[in-house]
Amino acid sequence: MLTATYPDTSLFIDGKWIPGPSSDPVLNPATGEEIGRVAHAGRAELDAALEAASRAFAKWSRVTAHERYKLLRKAGELLRERHEEIARIMTMEQGKPVAEARVETLAAADIIDWLAEEGRRQYGRLIPARAEGVQQIVHREPVGVVAAFTPWNFPINQAVRKCSAAIAAGCTIILKGPEETPASCAALVKCYEDAGIPAGVVNLVYGTPSEISEYLIPHPVIKKVTFTGSTPVGKKLAALAGEHMKRVTMELGGHAPAVVFEDADLDHAIKMLAGAKFRNAGQVCVSPTRFLVHENVYERFVDGFTEAVKQVKVGNGLDESVRMGPLANSRRVDAMEALTADALQKGASLRTGGGRIGNTGYFFQPTVLTEVPLSARIMNEEPFGPVVPISSFSSRDGLFDEANRLPWGLAAYAYTRSGQLADEFGRRVESGMVSINHHGLAFPETPFGGIKDSGFGSEGGIEAMDAYVNTKFVTQLNV
Ligand code: NAD
Repeated sequence: MLTATYPDTSLFIDGKWIPGPSSDPVLNPATGEEIGRVAHAGRAELDAALEAASRAFAKWSRVTAHERYKLLRKAGELLRERHEEIARIMTMEQGKPVAEARVETLAAADIIDWLAEEGRRQYGRLIPARAEGVQQIVHREPVGVVAAFTPWNFPINQAVRKCSAAIAAGCTIILKGPEETPASCAALVKCYEDAGIPAGVVNLVYGTPSEISEYLIPHPVIKKVTFTGSTPVGKKLAALAGEHMKRVTMELGGHAPAVVFEDADLDHAIKMLAGAKFRNAGQVCVSPTRFLVHENVYERFVDGFTEAVKQVKVGNGLDESVRMGPLANSRRVDAMEALTADALQKGASLRTGGGRIGNTGYFFQPTVLTEVPLSARIMNEEPFGPVVPISSFSSRDGLFDEANRLPWGLAAYAYTRSGQLADEFGRRVESGMVSINHHGLAFPETPFGGIKDSGFGSEGGIEAMDAYVNTKFVTQLNV
């Protein structure tokens, strides 16, 4: 078993790490024990962050794109250098296997690099004018001070996308990080600080989420709101932002169909889906969550998949041989118990798993359910955990009706050897992202975001910068 020392987490405001007026315990989900504390901000700390971010914006927005790029690249290098220690801290507070925590931390460094580069490419344009002597110019300018809210499932990944795009664009940011997994997020912010990004550009606070969002979003200093989390909270925050005409990016939940067509390479589909489904114990917004399998290969798929699931080793994520750690908090274990009990009570069959593991920590068995009726809650609510409902389909139209039935549209997956079917799936499924025969989402250079109740805006690709810039049109007649 690997070891690590878990640090307490302070607030970072105007370039200084400071305590808050109160603090809360941080628990290790593998043991349920307190491992440290996280400072909570009060109104005075939020005011200080607003003041610092506002003051810093006046200067940072005028720093050249090239200089911003250099500082960000340095932050990415620091994150790479520190990734082993940060990964262990993340596993202690969040539970995921340390190999996944390493991947998340190193991938975050790649995201910083990508957004740093994109910051240098915020080209404006010249539009040919209708009259002689007129110059028509389009500028892309930083939006201003950003309020960002990030959750506990990917403590670094969710924060790095928002912070790095804001910094690269010339914005400043107040990040409300995840209270349950605060230290790895703070370690990211320390990389920005140590890279030389000036005081006030990035500010990190923790506290009571609703109090912070209700204060920051309407505040006149804040010009842009970005949130990752559940759809109900996202709708509340988007409504508040709308009342105050603030720009928003919303990266919300999903309930991704994972379709296995009759002609799929079944062994490949089983291997890929068993790997993807239990990553981060299923607490992933793009997790494959509704398995829809053609009736002619249904039994073979269910048998093979169930066998693969039985091999998933569950335990403390600091043990390198563990494939799935605990759930991140006790709420998720309660949710898994309730969703499983509801499905079984409505007639589903349990193929493996189905219950909590032990009395220590927040462990739940990798679980497979079949014959789950559409009325079961798990067919209608994002599971966000290691429970898989598998259903069969027979007709193409019926499949697309089911795949598109729910209000979300974040990710969708399909397995088929047919190019024509793959093409049809890509066009007909209502989803911001579609991955066929593999799980190839969330690279820095590819768009990342949903449609419908999954939110709007993109946090990847060249599109990621759009959220942090205003378009300004200047027309000038030379006299
Ligand atoms: P939740 O809905 O209470 O919180 C979700 C996130 O929103 C948390 O990070 C929380 O701190 C934040 N939040 C809650 N109320 C807020 C407010 N008023 N203002 C600002 N932030 C607020 O539920 P939870 O138990 O933490 O998570 C459960 C559900 O959240 C999951 O089922 C999943 O659907 C969703 N979730 C989605 C993602 C994602 O990556 N899209 C990440 C984490 C959680």
